[in-house]
Amino acid sequence: MSTPALGPALIAGAGPGGLTLALALARRGVASRLVERAAMLEETGAGVQLSANAGRVLDALGLGPALDAVSTRPEAVSIADAPSGRTLKTLPFGRAAERRWGAPYRVIHRADLQEALLEAIASESAIDLILGTEVKDARETDDGVALDVATADGPAAIEGGWLAGADGLRSVVRRALKLPTGVRGRGLVAWRAVTPAAALPKTFKSLNVTIWMGPGAHLVVYPLRKGREANVVVIGDERASGAPEIVASWAQPARDLVGAATHWTPWPLFDRPPDARLRRGRIALIGDAAHAALPTLAQGAAFAIEDAATLARLVAAEGPDPLGAYEAARLMRAARMQVQARRQIEINHMAGMRARARNAALMLAPTSALLRRYDWIYGWKDAA
Ligand SMILES: Cc1cc2nc3c(=O)[nH]c(=O)nc-3n(C[C@H](O)[C@H](O)[C@H](O)COP(=O)(O)OP(=O)(O)OC[C@H]3O[C@@H](n4cnc5c(N)ncnc54)[C@H](O)[C@@H]3O)c2cc1C
Repeated sequence: MSTPALGPALIAGAGPGGLTLALALARRGVASRLVERAAMLEETGAGVQLSANAGRVLDALGLGPALDAVSTRPEAVSIADAPSGRTLKTLPFGRAAERRWGAPYRVIHRADLQEALLEAIASESAIDLILGTEVKDARETDDGVALDVATADGPAAIEGGWLAGADGLRSVVRRALKLPTGVRGRGLVAWRAVTPAAALPKTFKSLNVTIWMGPGAHLVVYPLRKGREANVVVIGDERASGAPEIVASWAQPARDLVGAATHWTPWPLFDRPPDARLRRGRIALIGDAAHAALPTLAQGAAFAIEDAATLARLVAAEGPDPLGAYEAARLMRAARMQVQARRQIEINHMAGMRARARNAALMLAPTSALLRRYDWIYGWKDAA
């Protein structure tokens, strides 16, 4: 195991970004210490779409078989107008998507993704996963970085050569870099539920990703655990009492679907405007800590995974300024994703004449033109 020119790696936060970074570094022969505040890594959340850009990275790390055992490759993405329930477009995914973007598009439970990453990490002696340790502050020292942490035994400091802040939306590392820490709301909440597939109305019983767009709200449904369960997300006004109120005026199948799902968890939505930087000195940010976005493009975790692949490659290559090269490689792409995610929510939530124009444009657009719009996201490949 080599120590890169930057010295030993510290990673703050063991979400999809931090876990992938630790693994990608280890696979390139670089050891890391991964510091996570949770005492146990038990993901209880819902589903996550792992598009081809993330699939390519995870497959290259050898996770393909573990992910395939628990995930589904959607056959199509179907888009409907929520008030009428009319399908506007069905985009072929499955093998067609794999051919186009060169890697699988999977939908998976977050717990299953985390388990696959943790299993791979467990067999890497180069990764020191330190749980139950909350990062309170981060700073550069004369020859490296230091984390001030709180542990069950009291405060402590952990030193390293460089640091990746992978500690999510409310990142402490970001604060330490003196980057803007405020988040923007849009008055929207995501209501999330995982429901047995048997409880789904016929319209939603499929291996597709299904999106219904209504005035001020939209719904996303996709299969989990090989189609035994479904992930249901309703995004709408935070003032609504819950998902049933948001879809109350929509076509019957949506109301039946929402009525069938229980155990809804509300998730207020935030993002940030793009930043002018992703690093300072020996400290870089990845994932939501770097570029928090609305979930409309389903790219937050995927971009965290992309970040991890690029950062690991550059650090292992030992060029003159790996973190600067990382920032240069990721800045514009992350900004584009953040901006487009905002724009997409406006499109999804159009009402009245604008919604009618959107629907007509979608129905008339050639499938190939619609797929092409996603090439820049899903077709991404890290440099060799
Ligand atoms: C409704 C919804 C649907 C979504 N769907 C998708 C999707 O389909 N596809 C997709 O790619 N993305 C999706 N996302 C986005 C995705 O969930 C996030 O972008 C992703 O989890 C970010 O990963 P991360 O590793 O950067 O941060 P996080 O997942 O937030 O992980 C951060 C980790 O750091 C730890 N941590 C935080 N602070 C500290 C600290 N001070 N000290 C130590 N540890 C700390 C946390 O405990 C956590 O383990 C969705 C988001 C929402 C809200």
